[in-house]
Amino acid sequence: MKTAQVNKEKIVIKNVEDLKLNGRKGAIVRVLGCGLCGSDIVKFKHNIVKDGAVLGHEIVALIEEIDSDTDFIIGDKIVSSHHIPCFKCTYCQHGNFSMCSHFKETNILPGGFSEKVYLSEEHLKNVAHKVPTNLSNEEISFYEPLGCCVRAIKRCDLKTGDNVLVVGLGSIGLIMAEAIQAMGYKVYACDLLEERIKIANDKNIESFNSLDLDEFNAIIQEKTDGFGVDAVFMTSGADKAIDVALKTIKMGGKILVFSSTPNNLGYANNEIYYKELTVMGSYSPSPEDLKESFELLSSEKVDVKNLTTTYSLDNIQQAFEDTISNKIFKAYIKI
Ligand SMILES: [Zn+2]
Ligand SMILES: [Zn+2]
Repeated sequence: MKTAQVNKEKIVIKNVEDLKLNGRKGAIVRVLGCGLCGSDIVKFKHNIVKDGAVLGHEIVALIEEIDSDTDFIIGDKIVSSHHIPCFKCTYCQHGNFSMCSHFKETNILPGGFSEKVYLSEEHLKNVAHKVPTNLSNEEISFYEPLGCCVRAIKRCDLKTGDNVLVVGLGSIGLIMAEAIQAMGYKVYACDLLEERIKIANDKNIESFNSLDLDEFNAIIQEKTDGFGVDAVFMTSGADKAIDVALKTIKMGGKILVFSSTPNNLGYANNEIYYKELTVMGSYSPSPEDLKESFELLSSEKVDVKNLTTTYSLDNIQQAFEDTISNKIFKAYIKI
């Protein structure tokens, strides 16, 4: 079977031995497609993974072989995430599931950019769902990324009537804004790229260019009666995004950190202190967050139509390059 492997700063197609269950519990699935995640880009660009690694975790797949106590059967089309918490350790007990060592160790094997993948029984029991017929493979591939957004929104514990700003309108920023709106809060968004601002406005997310920060802040202040926004979601990985957050946030507001920044800049101590800000991070979803993401997609409350650009597995290198150069919004690798 074919897999796409990281190899000397490129993604190359390698033929490897076909996957079989070989007496293991779980399932062998034939991957139909896999979304290219921002975290795959970070791992690839910054050489975080070793040569030979197979990236990708946002899979849609058909069950080919199965030995499981779940209701899944051969031929089922499923969507699955990659990590599962132990539910017992100190991190899990405190709701910080993505800090759990079991969570970090579990994965789909060898990785989503592969013709076949092994899903353990734990995956089938906790993070896999049958794909509903109303959604395309591309649409349901947002299951895991939207799960990340659900977790972030839940952590923020918004109140009725809250105004929220999403900084950055990549695919994650856009679905974050859509999910916040679907949950009933007023959301604004900003980016520096006009075409992204237009896509967001077309999806009824009130979006602006934040290049001139004073001008943008004046709009936010006017929209929020001079208070600023109750929460800022940082989906942009640019250092300047921090200035946007600190300028537009309401006193006592919350800043949700949802991406790494190249220079690892921080929030100023005194700003946090005098304005009583809460700065918190949100990383990866729990099975419960994923279930909510699945519901939001199945009910079409979050519309992810026409957001992806499709590439073949053989052309995956191009998908990485086009994502890095912001040429496309979100790549989906059809396998
Ligand atoms: Zn992802
Ligand atoms: Zn745990």
